[in-house]
Amino acid sequence: MSTLSIKNLSKTYPNGVRALDKVSLTIEKGMFGLLGPNGAGKSSLMRTLASLQEADSGTVRLDNIDVLRNPLEARKLLGYLPQEFGVYPRITAHQLLTHLAILKGITNRSERKDLVTYLLHKVNLYEKRNTSLKGFSGGMKQRVGIAQALIGNPRLIIVDEPTAGLDPAERNRFYNLLASLSQEVIVILSTHIVDDVRELCTQMAIMNLGQILYHGSPQDAIEELSNKVYRKLVGRDQLEDYAKTYKIISNKMVAGQPLIHVLCETHPQNGFEPLRPDLEDVFFSKINTSSVLV
Ligand code: ADP
Repeated sequence: MSTLSIKNLSKTYPNGVRALDKVSLTIEKGMFGLLGPNGAGKSSLMRTLASLQEADSGTVRLDNIDVLRNPLEARKLLGYLPQEFGVYPRITAHQLLTHLAILKGITNRSERKDLVTYLLHKVNLYEKRNTSLKGFSGGMKQRVGIAQALIGNPRLIIVDEPTAGLDPAERNRFYNLLASLSQEVIVILSTHIVDDVRELCTQMAIMNLGQILYHGSPQDAIEELSNKVYRKLVGRDQLEDYAKTYKIISNKMVAGQPLIHVLCETHPQNGFEPLRPDLEDVFFSKINTSSVLV
């Protein structure tokens, strides 16, 4: 069974942004969610794991391979679906996968043909194999992206923000595909969408400002918050006052009125009602919440 072991990974860009700050994680087979707001450092981490960018310090090991020292070896064990998977619009799914299989070194013609057929079935696009990619929906393009990531039989698959722009049905189909892949390999899903993690991942990390703020199961994180989250509908003009007294973790408009969730060790009374926390409460309670009101 494969294990990805990340230790003290740090990266500061030339402009001074510390995108990774001593990141350490151990990730086993299954679906792992990396959740964080935009700018948290998720893509920086994904690109480093995919050996597309260097870190300043720290180590990454995939089983017995030092990923940062042996990027060529590591890439053979890795499938990567980047945030923007560009496709050549004029060619078909079959042609694109054949082309990418050649680039990945599958030189034997019949082996390649079998592989492409297998991949097209795997992502449920065999019927569409001769359709030009131009006519593909966002979800179909993402499935082509997964198919190409599977070339070479990877042990680790990295998908960066894959569900943005997919409609709910496409998203479900994509989830099912990822869930089936994660039976056999490590799948890391980087996302800012809490639902992606809730529905799919057995293990997760929450990241912000380059740091890992939580690492564990979604259930344990929710459990930690039980009996500590309360909600109340408040007036818009009262928000600032509430923020002075309570630790507001989220603020959502419900029929034009702010519904706040607060974190509190004991019942705050004053019209607040207890609620059963969910993963969104976990997410907002872990990341810096100073921006809740704006
Ligand atoms: P995420 O994927 O979570 O949105 P990123 O890894 O893309 O986060 O970005 C983390 C931080 O690093 C952000 O502040 C971003 O502006 C900065 N950043 C990302 N790439 C570069 C780069 N090539 N040069 C300078 N700063 C960068």
